[in-house]
Amino acid sequence: MAAEKRYPVPPETADHALLSREAYERMYRRSLEAPDAFWAEQAEAFLTWFETWDRVSDNDLTKGQIRWFEGGKLNVSYNCLDRHLDTHGDRNAIIWEGDEPGVTRHITYRELHADVCRLANVLKSRGVSRGDRVSIYMPMIPEAVVAMLACTRIGAVHSIVFGGFSPHALRDRIVDADCRTVITADQGLRSGKPVPLKENVDKAIDGLDAVHSVITVRHTGNPVSWNDARDIDYGKALAAASDECAPEAMDAEDPLFILYTSGSTGKPKGVLHTTGGYLLQAAMTFKYVFDYHDGEVYWCTADVGWITGHSYIVYGPLANGATSLVFEGVPTYPDAGRFWQIIDDHQVNIFYTAPTAIRSLMGQGEELVKKHSRQSLRVLGTVGEPINPEAWEWYYRVVGDERCRIVDTWWQTETGAIMISALPGAIDLKPGSATLPFFGVEPQLVDNEGNVLEGATEGNLCLTQAWPSMMRTIHGDHERFMNTYLTTYPGKYFTGDGARRDEEGYYWITGRVDDVLNVSGHRMGTAEIESALVLHDAVAEAAVVGYPHDLKGQGIYCYVTLVQGTEPSDHLEKELASLVRSEIGPIAKPDVIQWAPGLPKTRSGKIMRRILRKVATNELDSLGDTSTLADPGVVDDLISQRANQ
Ligand code: ATP
Ligand code: MG
Repeated sequence: MAAEKRYPVPPETADHALLSREAYERMYRRSLEAPDAFWAEQAEAFLTWFETWDRVSDNDLTKGQIRWFEGGKLNVSYNCLDRHLDTHGDRNAIIWEGDEPGVTRHITYRELHADVCRLANVLKSRGVSRGDRVSIYMPMIPEAVVAMLACTRIGAVHSIVFGGFSPHALRDRIVDADCRTVITADQGLRSGKPVPLKENVDKAIDGLDAVHSVITVRHTGNPVSWNDARDIDYGKALAAASDECAPEAMDAEDPLFILYTSGSTGKPKGVLHTTGGYLLQAAMTFKYVFDYHDGEVYWCTADVGWITGHSYIVYGPLANGATSLVFEGVPTYPDAGRFWQIIDDHQVNIFYTAPTAIRSLMGQGEELVKKHSRQSLRVLGTVGEPINPEAWEWYYRVVGDERCRIVDTWWQTETGAIMISALPGAIDLKPGSATLPFFGVEPQLVDNEGNVLEGATEGNLCLTQAWPSMMRTIHGDHERFMNTYLTTYPGKYFTGDGARRDEEGYYWITGRVDDVLNVSGHRMGTAEIESALVLHDAVAEAAVVGYPHDLKGQGIYCYVTLVQGTEPSDHLEKELASLVRSEIGPIAKPDVIQWAPGLPKTRSGKIMRRILRKVATNELDSLGDTSTLADPGVVDDLISQRANQ
């Protein structure tokens, strides 16, 4: 393998950072040696409680019982809004940038607080109360944040469904969570094109008589169909509502939200998070991982329909009184310089995005980045998939001008908050490594029999003890919760991901365990082979899966998307094979290379390898659920290409 690069913390960064290496180590040790004392201190420091808890933790992973701060009373919207009003009520809570350049709104903490109270009162007037589930199906507009916080104000449980999902997917989720109220908008906008949200809601709830209220924000203002008995105009209702609404005192263990995972590996799971522990860890990780300093502008490009949007657009930043940028559009509209333009326009200090966006913008060349200043940037984050070292270097060198720290944050919908990540002032960086665990997180690598592997090694990634923002169950299916996460290696939480640990204890996520290949007895992550393939100038993207192979056990099947204007050839195929050989070793040499015009991706931009495995093994009648794919047509292309090869 290529020599490992290392980017030490520059002394001037260390001087200004919230946490030094020494502080990180001290706090980390304490978080494992005296977890209850540690988390009690953090809960006091980060949150405002109406009543203190009876007991810090009461966990038993063998039973799937996870409880934090039980008996403690708090309200999430109070923590995200009310308590900031005296000190910085006039600070922007949200800077909104619309799909169309130049369309912006600034919303202060005071204004956001007033709208949240108004919507909370509207919800109450429709009979929504503590514990009721509310479905949110919205574009990326400030009203989506208002909707989330209004639910928390009255103790209702939100279930956000990504606005790109079909009526069918929305219906499944409304039924699964038994939502009786839906909050939506007339339409969304993406690269200038309208997205028919209200129309989709109407289709989704057709015949679902339990849904009694649909609250619709007028966003584009285009006409939509209307049913007076059920439909409520958001703007009109808020104008008539009081801007005072006392926050409901919730128990720390009351449900806060249900969120369906993005569906890369099968039927989506309704992940349930509760109130106190979730908010604490979202707030704490936000502050330390992004090294947030009071008054900075922070931008996470995720959608509120994903966990990243929950924890790091809304709850983490607002609990800290930060300014959070909300962007409605896409990275390539009107051109692929949009991100960098927005960063300059709003003087963004901290920027958090996904490898899929980085890879696609990388393909557009440096010019579009370099023509914007980006001088305000200080910290750059990534999340969602393993980031190939090549994309990491581009992010560091081109976007960050070798000045910004990169935080590669590993976590899941299920973990609620970041689990493994660098800290800007404390941890030296290695491209492609998520680096070291956050406080309270004890990763463990085990083999398939559950034996604990020590030292520098590779295996299945588990977490040994419960943490405050851990999911509590799968909504309505505790058994599935146990079977998916807790019974594979009893007493531990199994992440489903594989990882390598180096001599310094750094973690390198190798992808989902299902994606780890065993070729002639050698274990290797598909991510590693993909990283080698994309080193070639002609390759835009690559996805690797295993397939049964008579001699080797598993063979290596590579799907390769070429950069525009490049044609496939036998010569190129040979070059790619020898590139993988020289980067990783002869054992990793591809058995099959299939040219792929596009790859099947989830709506959150992740490659769905489950489907690629089926195509590789020609099991076309068992492709499984494809409803969460961004573009199902890609699969047909792959199948016909395969036939032609
Ligand atoms: P499903 O659980 O339905 O299959 P999903 O796992 O894609 O969907 P998420 O919870 O959004 O849903 O994604 C978490 C997964 O994303 C992790 O388990 C891991 O595989 C991957 N991931 C997230 N961040 C990183 C990262 N920084 N490095 C490597 N992998 C990451
Ligand atoms: Mg997952």
